[in-house]
Amino acid sequence: MASSEKQKVNLVWFKRDLRLSDHQPLATAIASDLPCLLIYNFEPLLLEDPHYSLRHWRFVAQSLKDINQQLEKYKAEIAIYNQEMVTLLEMLSDEFDIAGVYSHQEIGLYNTFERDRQVKLWLNNKAIPWHETPLGAVIRARPKQFDWQAHWHSVMNQPLVTPDWHNFKTVLPKNYQVAKYTERFSEQDEKFQYGGPHAARACLQSFIEQRAKGYQSGISSPSKSRESCSRLSPYLAWGNLSLRQVYQTLKYYLAKQPLSWRRSLHAFESRLHWHCHFMQKFESQCGMEFSPQNPAYLHYPYRDDELVTEHLKRFEQGQTGIPIIDACMRCLAATGYINFRMRAMLVSFMTHHMNIHWHPVSLILSRYFLDFEPGIHYPQIQMQASVTGTNTIRLYNPIKQSEDKDVEGMFIKTWCPELKSLPIEDLHQPWLQPPMEALFNDFKLGEDYPEPMVDLEQAAKQARDRLWSFRERDDVKQGAKVVLQKHVKSLKRQRHGS
Ligand SMILES: Cc1cc2nc3c(=O)[nH]c(=O)nc-3n(C[C@H](O)[C@H](O)[C@H](O)COP(=O)(O)OP(=O)(O)OC[C@H]3O[C@@H](n4cnc5c(N)ncnc54)[C@H](O)[C@@H]3O)c2cc1C
Repeated sequence: MASSEKQKVNLVWFKRDLRLSDHQPLATAIASDLPCLLIYNFEPLLLEDPHYSLRHWRFVAQSLKDINQQLEKYKAEIAIYNQEMVTLLEMLSDEFDIAGVYSHQEIGLYNTFERDRQVKLWLNNKAIPWHETPLGAVIRARPKQFDWQAHWHSVMNQPLVTPDWHNFKTVLPKNYQVAKYTERFSEQDEKFQYGGPHAARACLQSFIEQRAKGYQSGISSPSKSRESCSRLSPYLAWGNLSLRQVYQTLKYYLAKQPLSWRRSLHAFESRLHWHCHFMQKFESQCGMEFSPQNPAYLHYPYRDDELVTEHLKRFEQGQTGIPIIDACMRCLAATGYINFRMRAMLVSFMTHHMNIHWHPVSLILSRYFLDFEPGIHYPQIQMQASVTGTNTIRLYNPIKQSEDKDVEGMFIKTWCPELKSLPIEDLHQPWLQPPMEALFNDFKLGEDYPEPMVDLEQAAKQARDRLWSFRERDDVKQGAKVVLQKHVKSLKRQRHGS
């Protein structure tokens, strides 16, 4: 069709920003008076990517369903596709004269960066402008001398962006049908948080009004944190809420809640800073998806023996023989969530005690984390695996964590029911049961529950020696200076971790 005969439209491309409010690209597209074509694309490149699993796409499908219900009153919907992005653009441009593409910048994996390059090339060839809005406070090509804290506060305190719905005109392609492929994402699993802006708001509200009271005291416990932490991470990761919406709601309630809550709410507020802080790190050095931030750690003596694959599999399946590790992994497999402290312990266990490279560990975890966010995930993985050369070496003792954070053993008993009958003194280390006691407990190590795949004490000693002696190398020290220069100096005055 000749360009003059085509309908002129603005294209709004939804990605990890699955909401209608505080959505600058949508608001700008609507304000320009042209009809808007709203799209989401389940791109094969992401569906096939090993970081993702069904749980992520189900969450996205739930979010789209919620948004499309909200759009019904405007007789509009987000059109859902399942194609390579440039092919989709080609197809849409056969029918429409695309005046501009509106989207958020993506702080994504390398493959999305490459895809964006191809999209940009295609758009440039057609002289179609691409209006990209920064995501939260994260900025591209950050200048060297830049007051990041001031910038963060300025972004978070700006008024929320409300689209002018009276001006909203919408359009759908002729013969549009929802991509058939996506039907497989419609199955529900109630053990997972449900996607969409409605569920996100309910979660935020219940946290700020009730659950936040126990935030500080419950944050490190794998059981208590499920209730007392905000649980906002998947909603932030998939953009059901903007960080600004969360921050401004928090500010509103901070003044209202009793003084005794303030410590918890301030601790929560600092996590909102870390959210962008980590994403900014990743944006500035996205190569950390593949390589350590400190290049000297390319030479770190990780294992490469024939048992590595089996050990990774046992980890993934929650069959390591170490109850707290297995409980965390089974809980993650079944619900998509575990708290920060346990995440850090899992990485420490696999990279330090087991001496297995952080990369395959990171893939197993990202497939399990419903809140997988590349910009937080990779800097955190590398920090916990101690491959920056700058952070404190974090070697968590799983038994100490287990005894301190699951004192009654309820978490272990929930996820490892085969250990349910053990008394608490045997629960955290079932391999230490004297034979008579094991007989009395009717428990056979190696049959009822696996033998531990490593001797923790010995492995910790070896890990400590390996980690500290490696850190003494000149190339590590040199690399650490560069890491500090790049990430820390300009963002200083922030603590990050939990
Ligand atoms: C190895 C490892 C991998 C991780 N991968 C992810 C990931 O893929 N996606 C993700 O959202 N978080 C990740 N985290 C950070 C953190 O564990 C989760 O954000 C948090 O547990 C989510 O629970 P919540 O929403 O109840 O958090 P809350 O404690 O209620 O915090 C509120 C929000 O602040 C942000 N936040 C909290 N802690 C951190 C932190 N340490 N660093 C950066 N942002 C933080 C999150 O957006 C979170 O939703 C990872 C941590 C580790 C150690």
